[in-house]
Amino acid sequence: MNEENKSIHDFDFKLICEYFSSLERQGPGSPEVTIKALSFIDNLTNESQIADIGCGTGSQTMAMASCTSGYITGIDLFPGFIELFNLNVHKLNLQDRVKGIVGSMENLPFQNEELDLIWSEGAIYNIGFERGINEWHKFLKTGGFIGVSEASWFTEERPDEIDAFWNDAYPEIDTISNKVAQMQKAGYIPIATFVLPESCWTDNFYTPQVSAQKNFLKKYAGNKTAEEFIENEIHEAELYYKYKEFYGYVFYIGKKIKFND
Ligand code: SAM
Repeated sequence: MNEENKSIHDFDFKLICEYFSSLERQGPGSPEVTIKALSFIDNLTNESQIADIGCGTGSQTMAMASCTSGYITGIDLFPGFIELFNLNVHKLNLQDRVKGIVGSMENLPFQNEELDLIWSEGAIYNIGFERGINEWHKFLKTGGFIGVSEASWFTEERPDEIDAFWNDAYPEIDTISNKVAQMQKAGYIPIATFVLPESCWTDNFYTPQVSAQKNFLKKYAGNKTAEEFIENEIHEAELYYKYKEFYGYVFYIGKKIKFND
């Protein structure tokens, strides 16, 4: 990438992060869903080491902290999200056991077999589901758990428009049964899967974006990059409302089995 392109991309990235910093969540989900997913995990104590990968500003991390007692490290590539994350930690007086650090899911700062639980809501797609669950496996203790939410097809077939959109945005989107098979192959017992309620997308993700988009367009009036970005966000939301019976987020919970490294 030449310097000119690099600065254009840096600028895009900053804008996108600024937009998502203004929202409580950076992806579909809810505290209830986080707590439901956690209910399948039975190995946690107040000594547990937990990582929340691609934590954003930490909405789901704080929900986890409310019903676990171990140590949680949130990791995100974007320093602005981690700054907000750590502000939230202090507001909730959780600094003794929750911290946010800047880092990449491609190069996690953990020792082998250090973690009791790996968590990642709506973020593993950045590395790809199959690569993520395979590469992160070594960081879990035997008997440790992984919980990730991931875009998934609900049906074997779907209309061309939505099929093409997702195959361009994230070609690894797949059916629930194929994702479960990938987990099993990566050395996890599939413990549970469940589909996130539509309200995680509508009430908790797309609706709050309506006013965020207005403010953002006002601030960046005439900025083509900002306008195109918001157009894409609106298009993505419209597609969701049109085709939500065919896809959504699914939580996948797995347990690391013995003798599989
Ligand atoms: N988990 C949060 C939630 O559910 O609100 C955020 C989900 S957001 C869709 C995806 C997150 O992944 C963003 O916060 C983004 O900065 C982060 N991310 C993207 N690439 C990453 C990487 N290579 N390593 C760590 N985090 C990354």
